[in-house]
Amino acid sequence: MIPFIDLQAQRARLGQPLEDAILKVVRSGAYIMGPEIGQFEAELAAFGQARHALSCGSGTEALVLPLMAWGIGPGDAVFCPSFTFAATAEVMPLVGASPVFVDVLPDTYNLDPAKLEAAIAAVKADGRLTPRAVIAVDLFGQPADYPAIKAAAERHGLKLISDSAQGFGCTLDGRHPLHWADVTTTSFFPAKPLGCYGDGGAVLSNDDRLHDLLVSLRVHGQAVKSDLEGRTFDHDPKYLNMRVGMNSRMDTLQAAVLLQKLSIFADEIEARNRVAARYAEALGDVVRVPPVIAGGVSVWAQYVIEAEDRDGLAAHLRAEGIPTAVYYPVPVHLQAPYRGYPQPGGLPVTEAAAGKVLALPMHAYLDAETQDRITAAIRNHVKRNR
Ligand SMILES: *Cc1c(COP(=O)(O)O)cnc(C)c1O
Repeated sequence: MIPFIDLQAQRARLGQPLEDAILKVVRSGAYIMGPEIGQFEAELAAFGQARHALSCGSGTEALVLPLMAWGIGPGDAVFCPSFTFAATAEVMPLVGASPVFVDVLPDTYNLDPAKLEAAIAAVKADGRLTPRAVIAVDLFGQPADYPAIKAAAERHGLKLISDSAQGFGCTLDGRHPLHWADVTTTSFFPAKPLGCYGDGGAVLSNDDRLHDLLVSLRVHGQAVKSDLEGRTFDHDPKYLNMRVGMNSRMDTLQAAVLLQKLSIFADEIEARNRVAARYAEALGDVVRVPPVIAGGVSVWAQYVIEAEDRDGLAAHLRAEGIPTAVYYPVPVHLQAPYRGYPQPGGLPVTEAAAGKVLALPMHAYLDAETQDRITAAIRNHVKRNR
């Protein structure tokens, strides 16, 4: 079986320096908040054109932390797509707030700005929930329509989060999503475009006060510099708790891995774009290949085609030793725990897409020969079934 994502090829490329970096942490004993954490945060912020980057425990917690910082909770509405990984919507009930599901655009599967505007109006007219924030997702690696989404959020005084767990590194007109969003969050789950060797996440922002608050919330609401202004505390400020937070520290080991991986990430994004271009060239006339928003550069977390006989095609490819995946067979608003939340106007585009999408093997080390095998198998199946 061809690998769906080839993490071993990347590990081989990183070689001894990666193993040395891991061993260095093991020998140092600084397993929690060691020096690699601050170094990684600085390099991640620079890569993402951000003033601050906060490392944390996962991409899910990266979404929880800003919601906590803004005091979003019971009675509050946060607008998000349903065609996404469950974590995007899960964090609202976690803080006591309500997700409001909004349909996506049929070409990019990202949040539809017109439907967002309509959903905000519907929630306002209904009057039971207070609109507070929008979470846009950079699905499959490409940026959402930030200028339009930002305009809607601004008109209604809502915070904007870009959930870039799949899209970290993507740009729109040369800018990262944080140019429009209040925070960008990402995940370092191993299969994401920038992944570590376990769980991890980050929150990027340009706001000093917000970053300070996130630093505090990440470690049990501990006192941070701004909390200590104008007061004295004779003990370790770690033991002065100013607010209810949690433990969402990233392991030093993961920061050491990520420092190595970040050094080749820009090159990998280019390689992923070459793979995507080859797919488009070889398949554009037989299946629907994914369009990218004008001015956008995707990091291609997934390469997702649409095929009428999706399940038949997947079975044919499996028989040929080619793995595929369906993201997402059941949209979040149709999953049992989420059926009771508002979905003004319904989500017909999301529901139709869930029946047609098929993700092909995609990673920076997919060679042309292997890719030719994949595209030939797809072409054969489609032609035979015409
Ligand atoms: C993976 C993912 C998350 C969650 O990240 P974890 O690190 O697994 O917690 C959130 N949102 C999206 C869109 C994701 O793909």
